[in-house]
Amino acid sequence: MNDQVLYDVLRQEMRERKIPISLGKTCPVKCTFCYEKDHSYRPTIEPPLTTQEQWEFIMEEIQKYPTKQGEAWLLGGNEYMEWTDIFLHPKAMDWLEEFLETTDKQAIFFTVGYAKPDRIHKLVEKYPGRINFELSVITLGDSRKKLMPHAPTVSQVLKLIEGPAVTSANFYTFGPNTMSKDAQTISKINPHCNLWMGCLTPLKYIDQETTALMRYGRSYLPDEARRIYNAGLPNTQMIHTESYISTFLARQKILKTFDACELEKKDSVVVSGSVYRLLSTLRKNRARYLYVPNEMLGGDSDCSTLLTFNDVAQRLNGEKQVYLPKVIMEHPSMEEKDISGVTFEEFKKRHPRIRFKVLHKVNAKMSNRKLYEKGYVKNIVEDYLDNPLAKKIAEAPLPN
Ligand code: SF4
Repeated sequence: MNDQVLYDVLRQEMRERKIPISLGKTCPVKCTFCYEKDHSYRPTIEPPLTTQEQWEFIMEEIQKYPTKQGEAWLLGGNEYMEWTDIFLHPKAMDWLEEFLETTDKQAIFFTVGYAKPDRIHKLVEKYPGRINFELSVITLGDSRKKLMPHAPTVSQVLKLIEGPAVTSANFYTFGPNTMSKDAQTISKINPHCNLWMGCLTPLKYIDQETTALMRYGRSYLPDEARRIYNAGLPNTQMIHTESYISTFLARQKILKTFDACELEKKDSVVVSGSVYRLLSTLRKNRARYLYVPNEMLGGDSDCSTLLTFNDVAQRLNGEKQVYLPKVIMEHPSMEEKDISGVTFEEFKKRHPRIRFKVLHKVNAKMSNRKLYEKGYVKNIVEDYLDNPLAKKIAEAPLPN
């Protein structure tokens, strides 16, 4: 790869507030659930193992960006480069330390646990409030070996959790006494870190065995959530992964936002599955809901934010005017692009006979705010699992 291409990609990642160091190869952890298994939908390069010289360039560039309150730089490029546990890079820990020492910026990283426990705990103590360490535990149980054949051991993961470094631990249900057991184990050694839980979602390129395990796990989500609720753990406990639950819990806001858009009955509005079920039940015939499945990601995915323009194109059927939620085109680069990099302008050019209008109120800021406000285990048990309306909406059929 020529230097020009590489340095351009590094700059692109930094514009999106990434610290773009690379392992120089595809991720060796080989998790069977990895969402990076197929990233052919977006353009990426395979940068070589980051060298000292490239690191110096990265640091020089980062220094040029003003520090914004609350803004954290993500360790590892992940948009135009491939994703991995960046602590597998032999210099990652030194470079993180240098970043903290020579800038006043915050760092965030997602890792399956290859950070060195003693060092990362010391760094967090030395630079309080500057590190967000999101630890992907996934599971401490029997499925771990199968799902994460080259991941750190459970004892390494527990060493990370028991110090001050870890801000949040995410882990999932894979059957009875999986997620709830992990929640209790983690809470016992660290009552402060946030517990982010739920299910892993099968996408079309995930193998059958892993897909079956994910779905089996999901069938136990209600039981597992109740067990955690009843355990009364001191940690913040959230479940963010299931769109049908998140949509239901945010229903008042979704309906209010939708009503405020003042659509006519004949207007066609692009919606994902869960939103379709909600609106077709509670706002029947108030507009034409154009259900768009997440074809690109496939599997059980159901999310407006992850819809692509190609997904929408596949469902168009003679409409003259179509309303699109803003979330589809809120790319981290701040350009109006979907997750596969297709711009809104390109999409419009491909469909010159259709007038596309954007529902600006249906944006990522609103949906993220609701996700965090409503995604507590407490809400899920009290307002979703025990609510007959939730069942009614879940049973609403989707169009073919
Ligand atoms: S560590 Fe992350 S990037 Fe690597 S295989 Fe596992 S999930 Fe994928």
